Amino acid sequence: MARAVLDDYRDAIRRGAPLAEDPAHALADRAATLEVSLRPVLNATGVILHTNLGRAPLSDAAIEAMRAVSRGYSNLEFDLDGGERGSRFAHLEGLLRRLTGAEAGIAVNNNASALLLALSSLARGHEVVISRGQLVEIGGGFRIPDVMRQSGATLVEVGTTNRTYVRDYAEAITDDTAALLRVHASNFRVVGFTEQPRLEELGALAHERGLLLLDDVGSGALLDPRPYGLGGEPLVQDSVRAGADVVLFSGDKLLGGPQAGIAVGRRDAIEAMRRHPLARAVRLDKASIAALAATLQHYARGEATTTIPVWRMIAADAASLRRRARRWAQAARAAGATAEVVPARSMIGGGSLPEEGLDAFACAIEAPGGAAQALAARLRRGAPAVIARIEDGRVLLDPRTVDPREDATLLAALRAALASVR
Ligand SMILES: *Cc1c(COP(=O)(O)O)cnc(C)c1O
Repeated sequence: MARAVLDDYRDAIRRGAPLAEDPAHALADRAATLEVSLRPVLNATGVILHTNLGRAPLSDAAIEAMRAVSRGYSNLEFDLDGGERGSRFAHLEGLLRRLTGAEAGIAVNNNASALLLALSSLARGHEVVISRGQLVEIGGGFRIPDVMRQSGATLVEVGTTNRTYVRDYAEAITDDTAALLRVHASNFRVVGFTEQPRLEELGALAHERGLLLLDDVGSGALLDPRPYGLGGEPLVQDSVRAGADVVLFSGDKLLGGPQAGIAVGRRDAIEAMRRHPLARAVRLDKASIAALAATLQHYARGEATTTIPVWRMIAADAASLRRRARRWAQAARAAGATAEVVPARSMIGGGSLPEEGLDAFACAIEAPGGAAQALAARLRRGAPAVIARIEDGRVLLDPRTVDPREDATLLAALRAALASVR
């Protein structure tokens, strides 16, 4: 293929024709006709919600639901009872209400757009009060103050980085204030001399003054991660109960579904978001709606920890992880490498539960000639690509984030990589 591209260029030069573009670009474009650049990889990093690797893998039911509505037509915006136009938002509302206890719910493209839509439709041209300890950057350049500016709401900062009191919010409220905003510090921890009001206190203040309380909880846990040895995350249903008027969260973090941003809360507030022109710009497509509905159904049926991959990985038992790591190490040794099972930490990732990990076992491989980077690169370039971690000069493979159904595929890729670095 490279030769064909170069032949074309030589030919063009000989004819004195203008050169269309950089040969490297031409080569990349031609390669794209043979293989799509976006493809599956095996995540052996032990980071469950790896943002660069596509965050949450979907359940079999969610994938089947996407397939079913993608093959042909669907009742995406069609009311089958009345035979007339319906709303794409209707497919999720019942589940969202049932699972969170909220009056209404809507799902859009991601949580960043849900927050932008909430601020644009509920606070544009007005002030929104937020603690200085919550003016966070989530990652990928997504900063709360920038989103505020985009929405046309005016940011009013109160308190300090480490301590903010209810009275700080109360003193900042003017005739122009539309809402109080709380943002969960998803990806960092402030420890030591700290203070943030409880959500109930903020809700009481907001409602006494006729304002809305918006709560961006980030990850959007519907299940408590603490029984699995992790720290607490704000639960969506707790925020609703505590008095937040709109609670915002992601679909593809701890919820374990497709990329989406979900807003649940008071009917009039959600209705205002739905009617805003931005709602059309950030709406979800039919496949994501199908996958999100199937994911939410797992929670409704009480089967989330056994069907949703993110929760299965969190709940994976140590003995089976160790068994798989041992099998992987055996395979590496059989391929001529030095390998053993080592204790490790799997991480949640995706800006959820920073500083916390799950006890794990990994397969640690001594790369031939000590070239861990070279072995990791070989694994990345294999088919399928395997993404590993390097620790203390060894390549670490964590079974927690690899579906056990993929073990044979992973071992074949590992053997091929080891054969090529030797
Ligand atoms: C992750 C996160 C977001 C952004 O969510 P996306 O779904 O990635 O757009 C917004 N707010 C908080 C608090 C987050 O943790």
